[in-house]
Amino acid sequence: MAFVIIAAVVIAAGAVFWYVGARRARSRGRELDESPYHLGLDALIAGHSDRAIEHLTRAVRDNPRNVDAYVKLGNILRDRGQVKQATQIHRELLVKRKLPKSVRNEIIKSLARDLASAGRWLDVLEHLATLPRGERSDPSVLAMTRDAYESAGELDKAAQTHKDLLKAGSPEGQPSAGVYRAHLGLVAFKRGDTRRAKAEFQAAVKEDPGAALAYVYLGDIAVREEDAERAVAYWMRLVSEKPNCAHLVFERLEKAYFEIGDFGRMMGIYEQLVASSPSNVMALTGLSRMLERKGAVDEALRIAREAVKHEGSTFEGHRQLIEILMRHERYEEAAKAAETLLAGLSEHRKERTCPSCETQLDGYGWRCTSCRAWINEC
Ligand SMILES: [Zn+2]
Repeated sequence: MAFVIIAAVVIAAGAVFWYVGARRARSRGRELDESPYHLGLDALIAGHSDRAIEHLTRAVRDNPRNVDAYVKLGNILRDRGQVKQATQIHRELLVKRKLPKSVRNEIIKSLARDLASAGRWLDVLEHLATLPRGERSDPSVLAMTRDAYESAGELDKAAQTHKDLLKAGSPEGQPSAGVYRAHLGLVAFKRGDTRRAKAEFQAAVKEDPGAALAYVYLGDIAVREEDAERAVAYWMRLVSEKPNCAHLVFERLEKAYFEIGDFGRMMGIYEQLVASSPSNVMALTGLSRMLERKGAVDEALRIAREAVKHEGSTFEGHRQLIEILMRHERYEEAAKAAETLLAGLSEHRKERTCPSCETQLDGYGWRCTSCRAWINEC
């Protein structure tokens, strides 16, 4: 009996200890969860940057040794466009503190991102070069290094770094070596380095059919070199290899054939395209334009009406139809076509925007100039 009583007391005491211990641990856990640092991280994950800044600022005030809170605070400020403050925070961390290597590396990467946001490419490269070799071959660091070389005009080094990046495991969303070459060609072209641009574009179209957009620019360069035949040959390769992008060169081809004195050829190109893809709105409107010029107005209108049937948000077909009707003084029909166009316009707008940041795109290329996302237009 005594044994039973003793056993019961021991079990009860154990239960009390366990209960009190668990409560303490829970409250310690809660304290930790509700520390400014953890509240800051939660806010960061939830995407509330104002609140994250508030909590993390309090965290570093409470504990100036909380390096991670500083790093994250700097990163948020950079993402909000407060690049100067971000740079200052990350720079001070590097100067002042004795840090474990891994932490130091993270700070260097954060600082490099700050400097990239400020367009200070040579400083980006300088800081990334201080990372240990293993860190430098990390895909995110390689991508940053490549972009810095590219923006600093070091195109050879950019191309090499892009190859290293693809070798490091082809991170998702990165373009092939050939498409990257084409992109570098466009970078050179915009800088006025036509020779380099031409070499890159020529190599790119050989390397990857995905770089076919380069034919547009190769043709433009040929025109500058006063070689209209060659320009037409390049543009025709785009038409045959990427019919869905053929409209990019229609206007150029029309002008070139007109200058060569072989305008009839253009009609043939449109007819061929319409035969192989009957819903190609741009080819239909082109054909309709040619027919009208030839004086075949009824046929031109028939083709324009066909284009209207297939057009999505481009409204090229409507535009063409209305213009032909107006030119031939068929105003009532033109007004009706305009009415249906207006009804559709309220729903769509003709604009090419970046799928990532929705900035309006100017010109055709492989990369958004605003957010640097890769774009595949052809
Ligand atoms: Zn973008």
